[in-house]
Amino acid sequence: MNRLFFRFFVLVMLAITAATFAIYFAISRLYGDPLEDIARRQAAAEVFLLEHYIDRAPADEWLVRLNKVREVSSVRYELLPLAQASAALSSADAALLQRGGMVFRVADKAFLRRVDLSGQRYIGSEGEVLRAEGLPINIAQALQQEALRYAIVALALLIPIALWSRAHWRGMQTLARVADEFGAGRLSARARMAPGASIYPLAERMDHMADRIERLMEAQRTLLHSVSHEIRTPIARLEFGLELLRTAAATEAGPALETRIVAMEQDVRELNALMTELLGMARLDSGQAMQRQPFELAPALRACVAAQPAGQHTEVRIADGLGLVDGDCRLLMRAVANLLGNAAKYGAGRVLLNAARGSDGQLVIAVEDDGPGIPAAERARVFAPFYRLDSSRDRASGGFGLGLAIAHKAVALHGGSLAVEDGEPGVGLGGARFVIRLPG
Ligand code: ADP
Repeated sequence: MNRLFFRFFVLVMLAITAATFAIYFAISRLYGDPLEDIARRQAAAEVFLLEHYIDRAPADEWLVRLNKVREVSSVRYELLPLAQASAALSSADAALLQRGGMVFRVADKAFLRRVDLSGQRYIGSEGEVLRAEGLPINIAQALQQEALRYAIVALALLIPIALWSRAHWRGMQTLARVADEFGAGRLSARARMAPGASIYPLAERMDHMADRIERLMEAQRTLLHSVSHEIRTPIARLEFGLELLRTAAATEAGPALETRIVAMEQDVRELNALMTELLGMARLDSGQAMQRQPFELAPALRACVAAQPAGQHTEVRIADGLGLVDGDCRLLMRAVANLLGNAAKYGAGRVLLNAARGSDGQLVIAVEDDGPGIPAAERARVFAPFYRLDSSRDRASGGFGLGLAIAHKAVALHGGSLAVEDGEPGVGLGGARFVIRLPG
């Protein structure tokens, strides 16, 4: 039995027991003791006989009729003094008896009633009570029927609960197994539950979470692999350089030695630059780098263009009324600077920066050049760390393939998007066109 069903079982049983008591007490209070009611129904024939045959006798024949009934009935009828009968009753029952009512004694299978209130039936009849004992009352049977009724109700409740809880329990066990497998390192473990399953929403979220974790782990693995690969090249060059330096120190003179040292310094600078970029990216990932504060976009963009290295010319078209952006100015401008740097690096000489507000209120910043552009198939991948379109050409230009990854993360931290788009026909420069969109 699954644990879920066991709990439901206990709960349903407790609820039905509580309901039974509640029903008994409510009915007793409102309509009198239900057990007495059952007894009255079972003794209806004897009551009928008394009220419609014996009581309807002419005044002096009442006792005669009672005796006739005594002869044929299995019920024992006896007459006893009112005071004696009342003494054995509760005060409420004694009062009822006194008023001429019929008092039922369920446990004794008996009822009592005064012969009459005015002494018409025989002399002294007002002081006597008729007690009928041995009535065909069987409360146990009535109770058994009642219990059977409740048992059927419980069963009718428990069977669907059992079926439902079985499916639910299996689903939960599947989830637990997936969580265990995932925790044990099998990152491809998924619940893949049918949409009709009761815990489908939970399973679906868990699968989404697992997808994301798997992707992150994969990205981390690739990153680690790329980092070690990138670092190995300058380190190998440094080792080689040191080796040469050792032999050259003994044989070669000043200028040749100097050239080797300069080359090695360049390698160290490259390592340093790589480490700085990597650290920057790690800080973006952890979200620590963000310092939000509203700033004017237009002057920030102009300052960013002005800060480009000398000799780089950028055409700037900034629409009026760009207004404020709530974000980290330094981070966003770093993303724009990366795009401008790339446009200058990979373009043929012309760079265009366009900034305007879209019809939906979004801020659109586009950086465009007249270079070879980015093939449609590569457009999603260029934002992955260390990804380069042409590694031999790009390595020569000094990039690690981290600039776009950093820009992408910086924009995403602002709730925006960075994508490569097709240039506007006739208007654009024909090369790559990177577009930042920020929520308005
Ligand atoms: P890198 O430091 O190598 O420039 P990025 O992440 O900035 O790294 O760019 C990744 C790759 O995308 C580059 O190596 C280059 O191949 C390509 N790329 C980026 N910008 C442009 C551009 N404006 N035109 C053509 N290719 C580009």
